[in-house]
Amino acid sequence: MKRIISLISALFFLMSVSAQDNTIENLCNKINQDSLRQNVIELQEFSTRYAYSPNRKQVAEYLKGRLENYGFEVVIDSFLLQTGWFPTDADTLWQYNVIGEKQGLWAQDTTIHLTAHYDSRSDMEGFEDYFNFAPGADDNASGVAALLEIARIINQENIQPIKTLVIDFFAAEEQGLRGSWDRIEKISTPFWKEDIKAVINLDMIGYCTSDSTDYVFDLITYNNSSELTQMASEFAEQYTLLTPNQTTENNYASDSYSFYSYGVKCVFLMEHEFTPHYHTERDVYTTINYHFMRELTKLAFALTYECGVKNDYATVSTKTPSQPAIEVVLLTNPMQDNLRFSCRNLSSNSKYTLFSQSSQILKQARIENPNGINQIDCQDLNNGVYFLQIVSENQTITKKIVVIR
Ligand SMILES: [Zn+2]
Repeated sequence: MKRIISLISALFFLMSVSAQDNTIENLCNKINQDSLRQNVIELQEFSTRYAYSPNRKQVAEYLKGRLENYGFEVVIDSFLLQTGWFPTDADTLWQYNVIGEKQGLWAQDTTIHLTAHYDSRSDMEGFEDYFNFAPGADDNASGVAALLEIARIINQENIQPIKTLVIDFFAAEEQGLRGSWDRIEKISTPFWKEDIKAVINLDMIGYCTSDSTDYVFDLITYNNSSELTQMASEFAEQYTLLTPNQTTENNYASDSYSFYSYGVKCVFLMEHEFTPHYHTERDVYTTINYHFMRELTKLAFALTYECGVKNDYATVSTKTPSQPAIEVVLLTNPMQDNLRFSCRNLSSNSKYTLFSQSSQILKQARIENPNGINQIDCQDLNNGVYFLQIVSENQTITKKIVVIR
């Protein structure tokens, strides 16, 4: 009798671990390689995302805009960075964490955090110009790009999480995980308290020279997180082409460590074949294997879905989306001479119109790149506020623009 019972329970156990979820598989297949690539290119477009660079708030604003386009509620939370690395006041600078939330339907104070740092550095090998050029494509535009793509799918497929999904884009990771330390310290105070069920951290997920039959990634583990590790390992097999290399090596070297130090359960996904362009000016978007990166994004998505949408609670139905929503993100605002903006999901015959504050039409033309970066020459405009309106089929977006010289 005892033996039969254990046989039956073993059978149930096998069923529960090997059961593949078709919903997750279908959603994973919507993750788009070109979209990931475009995200990395746009992040590299900032030239540098170095923590001490003057453009750091612009990068944060860009990320805020992207997440807002996907229906997330976003705040920029600042903290003061002081490392003692630079002798003067230049070492005391505000830094900007970008925090996007999609409220849970039922368990709102219970959260799943998806994390990636957005800052970069390129000062290895004596490169001097790192204040101006630190492309950080693999480290860590890749992780940020993956989370933006996950946010896009969640929005497009109208997925309603049960728990609150949080996307954290951290600043100043390269200065000693400063963004994530600040974040978890604030969460752990009595005023900010939330119950974090899992952290899924992505850092350097784009470098791989192997053939797709031999894709390996580092499944970096923490000794309090065996359930999450096990899930990641199973999901890699069920939903991706990846083979996990389970390790504790480097588990202190990225933002998940700050959360782990506060007892939070974490998993950290990273490439296995460490990029040879690490922290150099050569870490550019052309060195990334987007097919490999897509597989790691699928894994992060599957974990997010299981932990945040399903898990112990219930599956929530997803509606079939109609036409995908158009997106426009300003890359230069305020601006001086050229207005640059990126577009997604626009039809080929989309148009833009630039209005003055008194609704006078100043410029009007077809959008040249309905899925990419566009530029409008605005050298002839005076300082002031303008409006950019974009029309694609029956959808319209209007953005406020400021010219300051
Ligand atoms: Zn990194």
